[in-house]
Amino acid sequence: MEKHNGGCYCGAVRFQITGLPLWSGHCHCRSCQQALGGAFVTWAKVAAKDFDVTKGVIKTIRKTPGIARGFCGDCGTTLTYSAETEVAGQDWSADAWFAAATLDDPSIVEPKAHVFVSHQQPWIKLADGLPASEEF
Ligand SMILES: [Zn+2]
Ligand SMILES: [Zn+2]
Repeated sequence: MEKHNGGCYCGAVRFQITGLPLWSGHCHCRSCQQALGGAFVTWAKVAAKDFDVTKGVIKTIRKTPGIARGFCGDCGTTLTYSAETEVAGQDWSADAWFAAATLDDPSIVEPKAHVFVSHQQPWIKLADGLPASEEF
C-alpha cells in the first residue's frame, strides 16, 4: 500500500498514512474555526491502523466532551480529531481523522462534502458543487 507523509508547520510532529484517505470533507463548525483560526478545516480519514505518528508527540485538547483535538505543542498546527464517544450515532473510534492540508501533498485528498454549513462564515462562498449539510 502506498504511504503518504505529513506533519505540522514546524516539523516537530510527523505522521504517515497508509493508502489514500477513505473520506474527506470540509467542516465549517464553530469549534473547528476557533481551533484552526480559519474559516473551516478540511478533514480526511483513514482507518486508525493506517495512521502512524513517526516523529514527535501530538498533544490533545478536550473542550467538547468526548472530542480530542490533536495539535503540535510547539507550533500549534491542528493535526487530528478523534471522538471518544459516538458522533451523530456513529462510532468513530476505528477512524483516524487528520487535517488534510497537513499532508506533504494535500492534492491526494478528494473532499466530498461541506458539513456544519449552519456555522459557515458569510464571507465564505461555496461554488464547488459539493453536497452541503447543515450539520454532519
Ligand atoms: Zn509543529
Ligand atoms: Zn468541525
